[in-house]
Amino acid sequence: MFPYHQIQLPRHIVIGENVLGSTGTTCKELGLDSPALVVADEVTMKVAGGKVKDSLEEEQYQVDSFIIDAADLANVEKAQQGVRGLGARVVFGVGGGRSIDVAKLSSFNEHIPFVSVPTAASHDGIASPQASVKGIGEPHSIKAHAPMAIIADTSVIMNAPDESLVAGCGDAIANWTAVKDWKLSYRLHNEYYGEYAASIAKLSAAVIIRNRMLIKGRTESALRVILEALISSGISMCIAGSSRPASGSEHMFSHALDRIATRPALHGAQCGVGTIMMELLHNGDWIKIKDALKTIGAPITAAELGIDDDLIVEALHIAHTTRPERYTILGEKGLSIEAAKRLAKETGVI
Ligand SMILES: [Zn+2]
Repeated sequence: MFPYHQIQLPRHIVIGENVLGSTGTTCKELGLDSPALVVADEVTMKVAGGKVKDSLEEEQYQVDSFIIDAADLANVEKAQQGVRGLGARVVFGVGGGRSIDVAKLSSFNEHIPFVSVPTAASHDGIASPQASVKGIGEPHSIKAHAPMAIIADTSVIMNAPDESLVAGCGDAIANWTAVKDWKLSYRLHNEYYGEYAASIAKLSAAVIIRNRMLIKGRTESALRVILEALISSGISMCIAGSSRPASGSEHMFSHALDRIATRPALHGAQCGVGTIMMELLHNGDWIKIKDALKTIGAPITAAELGIDDDLIVEALHIAHTTRPERYTILGEKGLSIEAAKRLAKETGVI
């Protein structure tokens, strides 16, 4: 019998200059009810949350806001209390990552829709059903629900720190090895493999690699390419029903760094460096991946990540333990310390 498979996709995607002003009308068109809770941090509230609030109020929405200080379980619970206290019918996540994660998981737990309003193009969680939240006992993301709408204002995102933009490219490029890991698990263990989801995920990586020179120029059209790649990556996860097409061994390396480094680098930056090394393990064209990241201006070495060489080796060594149920090129035993050191040296990461 064919297994039951449900696909939930974002319904409305708006990308463009000064589109935050259309938030209210977009929500009306979608039939989203008042009141609305806007989740943001102090910075993102200033750069975008206020505009979202104004636009909603113009369309007669009752709006309250909740300022988070971290993407952890405590903030998710407080956001849920906010939803219940207000009787909110929709939650907005306004931010780079943390606010979107808190909005996504709290709205999911409260069974109401959420709208994703990214203020940076730093990772593919802006469109995916996955949420990364500390304190749930997992270093990786868990499944929640897809955003009902994504409103990406390029005039806001253009002003985000450059490191967040290059991190977004790293997170999209990571799909290259994530899909290879997925296919390997299908071949070895007959894990469900969705050709369509895999193709979309691979395309996100390929588009970034192909447009590396354009991205180097940091124009608005470059930003659109990155946003579209990240949104497609999120959609590939919606179709697969898991993060499989966009998260493999290179993400495990990043999760391991998050666990052991006192000051980890941005998620996408770590995943990009992980992709270079995992592509070598897959016997693929790792130099092409490394060159693309270099052209874009993304970190390609431990020093550029701001992480000690020893920690890179240790993270490679323990990467397979961050998600043991997910089979990848790292296998069940992972890399020995010596093999990890050789891999990092051969790719020039250390
Ligand atoms: Zn990621």
